[in-house]
Amino acid sequence: MNEKFLFIETFGCQMNVNDSERIVTMMADLGYAPTVTPSDADMILLNTCSVRGGAEEKVYKRLSHLRSLKKTKNSLILGVGGCVAQQEGEQLLAKFPWLDLVFGTHNLHLLPDMVRGAEYGERRCETTFIDNEQRLDLFPPVKGASRLSRFVTVMQGCDNYCSYCIVPYVRGREISRRSADILDEVRRLADDGVQEVVLLGQNVNSYGLKSAGEPDFARLISMIAGVEGIRRIRFTTSHPKDMSDELIACFADLPKLCGQIHLPAQSGSDTVLSRMNRGYSRAAYLDRIGALNRARPGIAVTGDMIVGFPGESEEDFGQTLSLMEEVRYADLFSFVYSPRPGTKAADLPEELSRERKLERLERLQELQRRITREINESYLGTLQAVMVEGEGKRPGQVSGRADSGRIVNFSGDPALIGSFVTVRVVAAYQNSLLGELQ
Ligand code: SF4
Repeated sequence: MNEKFLFIETFGCQMNVNDSERIVTMMADLGYAPTVTPSDADMILLNTCSVRGGAEEKVYKRLSHLRSLKKTKNSLILGVGGCVAQQEGEQLLAKFPWLDLVFGTHNLHLLPDMVRGAEYGERRCETTFIDNEQRLDLFPPVKGASRLSRFVTVMQGCDNYCSYCIVPYVRGREISRRSADILDEVRRLADDGVQEVVLLGQNVNSYGLKSAGEPDFARLISMIAGVEGIRRIRFTTSHPKDMSDELIACFADLPKLCGQIHLPAQSGSDTVLSRMNRGYSRAAYLDRIGALNRARPGIAVTGDMIVGFPGESEEDFGQTLSLMEEVRYADLFSFVYSPRPGTKAADLPEELSRERKLERLERLQELQRRITREINESYLGTLQAVMVEGEGKRPGQVSGRADSGRIVNFSGDPALIGSFVTVRVVAAYQNSLLGELQ
């Protein structure tokens, strides 16, 4: 078989990154090797995200741009998958006559068949949601070059319907994978040399709650911690309302579980939280943060914050800033609210101008920069266990992650890549630490 090349561009979250890894595995079976150069590709796939505003426009722009490539190489296969594909479906094929494939978030398993058809000129769109029982068998494994750290999907979809969020509409209802399948995948990865697994899902801490006979997430983590060869476990994303005492206890009891958690608050104001349909209050959120800090002192908490949600007053915004001071996030992903058509919040009247929202975002980000810097400085002089993942940005340096998820660069031999070392922190920057090998 002549070698063919696949270029895949991934937008959005780690779930999409993981889906793209699955696509690469499936396409390897059809003879497509990955390339990083679009002009070398025989197939270009865009794995899209529609969580933030402007996503469709971004994809439309890419597709318009790719038209010229298709003109020079008629056999080039162009496809769009992910959330925008799920949302727009057939309309994408109609709008872009040079597009060959549109595959939705439940239809990855159909892609090999669709690509075979496209090789003979067939244009096809598949966006039907699959019912949960059938979906359990539709998680093709990720194969390929072994790496130190891999994503493992444990659940997909979401039943929470936060009022601003499109995910339940484009990813479908929540479904947990079978624990036996997850453990098989983790064991295979460990055999392949993987030392860290990052458990993925839209709301991992509700794992198993609706699946009879399956463990809950705390129990699943304990089972994964028992897999020989796995030295670190992380997970993302968590919902504060499903952060159980049992799961928090894992941070005290399981040394393999890293001292880092992504726990998005989205706002510090009870009024806004209620309008967002988040299902918890500020006090309940802070209660969970307190319990996490008691279970694992110094745990690095990261989060997401939305600025300028409809009706957010200056006082509400002040509550968000004060929540940040109380939690002291190690890092915060912050966004200006933009309505997603089809969600409940899209019908709420917007009172704030874009300038006002941006001004609040700037204040919030300035505060976060200070907190991040202070937290990074608190590591000065400490010893950190670092999993060395690759070469550093500067010549002679290697780079890895501390238990907290912080990036640590230090002078060292590339032969150290793949090992765990102890490093003393000697300098702290905004986004990373500098260490000395001990
Ligand atoms: S929990 Fe809320 S924000 Fe997260 S995916 Fe579900 S609906 Fe969206």
